[in-house]
Amino acid sequence: MAKKNKKIRTDFRKNRGSRPRTGDLTRSFSTDDEQRLDAPRDERISGKGELTRKRTVIGQEADADQGGFAVRPEVGGASRRGRVLKVHGLTSVVQAEDGSLHQCVTRRLLRTLSTDQRHVVAAGDWVYFRSDRSGDGIIERIEPRRGVLSRSSRGRQHIIVANVDQIVIISSAAEPYLKPNLIDRFLVTAEQHRIRAVICINKVDLVDRAGLEPLVGVYSRMGYQVLLTSTKTALGIERLRRAMAGGANVIVGQSGVGKSSLLNRIEPELNLRVATVSAESQKGRHTTTTAQLLPLSSGGYVIDTPGIRQFQLWDVIPEEVAGCYRDLRPYVSLCKFPDCTHTHETDCAVKDAVADGRLDARRYESYCHLRAGELE
Ligand code: GDP
Ligand code: ZN
Repeated sequence: MAKKNKKIRTDFRKNRGSRPRTGDLTRSFSTDDEQRLDAPRDERISGKGELTRKRTVIGQEADADQGGFAVRPEVGGASRRGRVLKVHGLTSVVQAEDGSLHQCVTRRLLRTLSTDQRHVVAAGDWVYFRSDRSGDGIIERIEPRRGVLSRSSRGRQHIIVANVDQIVIISSAAEPYLKPNLIDRFLVTAEQHRIRAVICINKVDLVDRAGLEPLVGVYSRMGYQVLLTSTKTALGIERLRRAMAGGANVIVGQSGVGKSSLLNRIEPELNLRVATVSAESQKGRHTTTTAQLLPLSSGGYVIDTPGIRQFQLWDVIPEEVAGCYRDLRPYVSLCKFPDCTHTHETDCAVKDAVADGRLDARRYESYCHLRAGELE
């Protein structure tokens, strides 16, 4: 892609004025922090209202529409590519391509650029940074993102983690009993964010595997990889390890299904680190924003945060649900009413497909539940 310096008119978030205090500790903490770092200056903003103002900056345009933006470097030394493993307040831990770790702050100009998120840099971001001899550095550019997991809070999009390659949905065949509707719910999230999903049914040592075949068939026919595992017999562990190798994996599933046990089987050291993260985020001030990439020896990452595991807060718009069901999707455009909800309408192609067995009845029921806003 050709990049040339050009003037860019851009929105700036006014961050030197006093923000309204809401009594929210996390928020007032980060506001103070930001203001301290931004060293108060005699700059007055007038007439443009409280929210934004325009300023012209010289920079490089790097797919700005996709979230990438570059600012012309001012510091010496080579710019290096790295991956943000963790963001804590205004500091990010960046892993360079040689594996070394760097504590980085973000360039003030990048932080000032108007974005829809609270923190400009997110865990999982690929960035370009410069570091001094001590190893500490400055992030100068964020590469365009894909596979972003986000949720909205107070009307703004909040990125939890960027550049996720895969969502690994863990369920258990028993104890707790298998909940296919919960698997469907996680699949919707994956489809919504256009992230590949892998389904893992753990604890198969507790059941007769033949009984799982119909369900496995339904998901396989839709193109999802389904793995049957047991941490007791080690069945499927190697396949799961291979499925997770090389990419950034978010692990989800209700508690008790065996997520920690599986991670422990895949990489014993990792589990220790997961436990540390959980303990840290319990007491951390940035609890809700903490996502962390934990490197795997296979070259990939496990992205862990207790909040992500449960997916409780994630937005699903009822109208979007059908499009996130791969098996329902082909029928949607064949319904009589363009705004068909596929629940009570006549001449509904989805319901017809269920009636004559082309669509799995359980999947259809889980669609109806989810559309009605029920989680399971
Ligand atoms: P998490 O909450 O999803 O992290 O689940 P844990 O890894 O803590 O496991 C919950 C319980 O299930 C523990 O008592 C594990 O020993 C047990 N468990 C995990 N995997 C298996 C399995 O494959 N088979 C059986 N029978 N029990 C398992
Ligand atoms: Zn319909």
